[in-house]
Amino acid sequence: MLLRTFSIQTLGCKVNQYESEQVAVVLRSRGMVQVRAAEADLRIVNTCSVTTEAAAKSRQISRRMLSLPVLGSNDHSPDLLKSGRSGRVIVMGCWATSNPTEAAELPGVDAILTHHDDVAGQLHRLLNEWTDNDNISHGNTCTYGGIGPGTSRLPLLDQHQQAQQRAFIKVQDGCDAHCTYCIIPQLRPNLWSKPVEDVVKEAGRLVACGHKEIILSGIFLSAYGRDTALRRRQPKDSSLPLGDLISALCTQIDGLRRVRLSSLEPGDLTDELISVMRQYPQVVPHFHLPLQCGSDRLLRRMNRQYGRDDFIRMVDRVNQAFDRPALTTDIIVGFPGETDEDFNQTLRVMDHARFIHVHAFVFSARPGTAAARWTDDFVPGPIARQRLATLTRSADSHGFSFRQQFVGKTVELLVEQPRFDGPPNHGRCERYFEVHFDPANVRPGQAVKVQIENVTMNRTTGRIVHVLD
Ligand code: SF4
Repeated sequence: MLLRTFSIQTLGCKVNQYESEQVAVVLRSRGMVQVRAAEADLRIVNTCSVTTEAAAKSRQISRRMLSLPVLGSNDHSPDLLKSGRSGRVIVMGCWATSNPTEAAELPGVDAILTHHDDVAGQLHRLLNEWTDNDNISHGNTCTYGGIGPGTSRLPLLDQHQQAQQRAFIKVQDGCDAHCTYCIIPQLRPNLWSKPVEDVVKEAGRLVACGHKEIILSGIFLSAYGRDTALRRRQPKDSSLPLGDLISALCTQIDGLRRVRLSSLEPGDLTDELISVMRQYPQVVPHFHLPLQCGSDRLLRRMNRQYGRDDFIRMVDRVNQAFDRPALTTDIIVGFPGETDEDFNQTLRVMDHARFIHVHAFVFSARPGTAAARWTDDFVPGPIARQRLATLTRSADSHGFSFRQQFVGKTVELLVEQPRFDGPPNHGRCERYFEVHFDPANVRPGQAVKVQIENVTMNRTTGRIVHVLD
């Protein structure tokens, strides 16, 4: 069967989204066209395994993709008719890597690609095989294990990322830090960094096709250029690979308006890195600093590489070095053994840092991790959910007071795609929050200056005072 069209369903984090874009580049290079799942000859599900819910959803969406008929397919080969559907389904990503047997047993799945596979190479091989040999029957699932360089051979992006004014570039993969709640080091154990020249080439292409903002992403971003994410094992020399990367991007790419870093931890934000970032106006004053928890006792139990005071010192340094920086974070509530006092300590760090947004989630036991075995210490669901609600209220109120200081001030927005039909009516500013304006004759991706007029708990509104380009 000639596979002409494909679809990709992506679950999980930005790294997964980026890798799905890379897979799309591979398939487009073979002349295939991306369409909705219902119309695709080849359906790919890029799965996530970070929480129990994400794993369940990955399984569910894979099943759904397997049950869809292919509309408009002209293929009527006996095998396909017998199987009751046409087209092919590949399941890849973190859940496929953590549960390859379960994924391969999904009825009718054609191939499983894990993080240990040469994903680009295997895609080409499968497509050649399926195109050359109509007689390969469905249900003959191929699983490839431990033979390739993971996703690192997937191509650089060369096209506008869909529906995004910001472009993510994965510059680093892998983690060996082994936080006790996290399955990632088992799924992506090998550390890899994209060479500076490749990042510059990729960012240049993305800027040339309309992106003005690049977000540097990785599983453990600050391990960029390092063999390990464990700070105690990193060389104590003066090299600063992430700083070199930022300098290269900011000096070599015309038209790049913003560089944003996806995540930094205490120990990453050295004076040297701060000084590099301050040199370049393209580096936005927004920092995502994943706290996870404000209790030293639990941070040790999580095997994080910092304590509460280290975290507070980092926040203070960022506040001193940058003009009203916006800080965001990740927090896990209900980690095994979390007491009211532990949680109150998290709230106290929140009050100190005044995070404007918190990506908070309830602890989810991932089989195979140390924390999943601490069942005696599991926090009851209602308590964890109540803590989650308290955290969210606290972040909302900090976000509100942060945004209030900009009333009457002018900020720069990159205009975003409108969510409904009609002209654009919002954009995101350097400090990450969204600002709404009256629908205007501007293009998504355009940079505009907006004077902030009103701030409420849920919304910031302003008036366009200048269209930049
Ligand atoms: S640093 Fe910790 S939480 Fe982050 S990917 Fe590595 S093990 Fe997981």
